Amino acid sequence: MTSASDNNGELPAIIGGAAVRPQGPPDWPGVDPAVSAAVESALADGTWGKYHGPHCSQLAERLAEYHQCEHAILCSSGTAAVELALRGLKVGAGDEVVLAAYDFKGNFQDVLTVGAVPVLVDVFADNSNLDPDGLEEAIGPKTRAIIASHLHGGVVPMSDVMQIARRHGVPVIEDACQMPGAVIEGRIAGTVGDVGIHSFGGSKLLSAGRGGALVTNDAELVQRVRLYSHRGNEAYPLSELQAVALLPQLDQLDVRNAQRQRNADRLRQLLADQTGLAALDNSGTTALPGYYKFGFTYDVGAFSGLSRESFADSMRAEGIAVDPGFRALHRIHSRRRFRTVGDLHNAERSDECVLTLHHPFLLGSDEDIEQIVIAIDKIRRHATMIQQQK
Ligand SMILES: *Cc1c(COP(=O)(O)O)cnc(C)c1O
Repeated sequence: MTSASDNNGELPAIIGGAAVRPQGPPDWPGVDPAVSAAVESALADGTWGKYHGPHCSQLAERLAEYHQCEHAILCSSGTAAVELALRGLKVGAGDEVVLAAYDFKGNFQDVLTVGAVPVLVDVFADNSNLDPDGLEEAIGPKTRAIIASHLHGGVVPMSDVMQIARRHGVPVIEDACQMPGAVIEGRIAGTVGDVGIHSFGGSKLLSAGRGGALVTNDAELVQRVRLYSHRGNEAYPLSELQAVALLPQLDQLDVRNAQRQRNADRLRQLLADQTGLAALDNSGTTALPGYYKFGFTYDVGAFSGLSRESFADSMRAEGIAVDPGFRALHRIHSRRRFRTVGDLHNAERSDECVLTLHHPFLLGSDEDIEQIVIAIDKIRRHATMIQQQK
C-alpha cells in the first residue's frame, strides 16, 4: 500500500475517512412527477378521502390485467395478503404449511396466526431460495398449502414446485412481494402459484407506504377472502389515496424493472471479480428477476475476518445501503412452533452470510453502481484496521 493511498480520503468512512457517497444512498420513493400529478388530481376532486371511489377498483382491474388473471384483491399489507390467502385456502388449526426456513418472518407468523404449523425446508446453496427437493418429504396428510417466496433477486423454480404440489393436491401461495413484474420461466411472478402475493410497503418496488394485494384465478378463494375481510366495512383496507399513488407506478413497472435488471447484471459482473462476494445465482432457471433487494453472500475469510455486520456497517458509512439478509426461521422461533424436514444447512448459511443491497441503487447511473465496488475495495484493503479501530 502506498502512502498516498493512506491519506484521509482513502480511509473507510467508518474510521474517519471521507465517504464514497457523502450524499448517502438514493432516496426511496423518489420524486415521481406522475405520482404527484395523480395525487394532486385526487386532492382536487375529493376522491382521495372517500371510502369508495374509482381508484381502488381501477387498481384492482389493472393488476388483474397486468397479471392476466381473473381477480386482484387489494388489502392493507403483504403480510395481511398472505394471511388472507391462507384463510382463503381454508388453512386452519392443526393444518401444516410448508415454507422455506429462510424466508420473510411475516410468512411464518401468518401460518401461526391461522392456527397452523409451519414446516420448514431448506433453500438452494447458491441462491437462498426454496429448494423444491425438500417438498416431497415435507408434504404429509396435514399439509394444506406451500408458500414459495422469490427472494433477493433469486427465484424459486416454480414449475418444479407446481409439479410436486399438483401431485399431492396442495395449493401454492407464490409470494412475489420482492419482485412484482418479474418473469420466471415465461410467466409473471405471482401467477404460477394458485394465489400470488404483492406488497406495497414503503420500501418496495411499488410503494404506497403500506398496502398489499392477492392475484388469483380461484373464484372460491376470492369469495372466502371477501367474506372474511368484509365486516360491515373492510377490515384490511387499501385506501383510495394509496391506490392513486400506485396506479402510475404500475404503468412504469416494466421500464423500471428493465433498468434494474441492466444495473443488476452490471453489478453481478463487477462482483464476479471480487473474491469473497458472490451474487445469488439464477443460471439454473430462465428468469428476468425483480430486485427489491440484490442479494449476495459474504465470506469473512476474504475480508481478514471482518464480520458481515461490520462490513455492512462500513458500507452504510460509505453511503451504500447494504444490510444482512433474513434470520433463518428455525433459529428465531421456539422449537415447539414448527417442524423441520431434512437438514437446513443452506438456510443457516444464508442466515449467516447473505447481504442485500436495497433496490434504489439499481435505478441509478453506471457511476452509482461503480461506487459500490469502490467502497468494497476500500473496506477490504482496510479490513484489519477497521477491526482494530472500532
Ligand atoms: C415485504 C415482504 C412481504 C410483506 O410485506 P408487508 O410489509 O407486510 O407489506 C412479504 N414477503 C416478502 C418476501 C417481503 O419481502
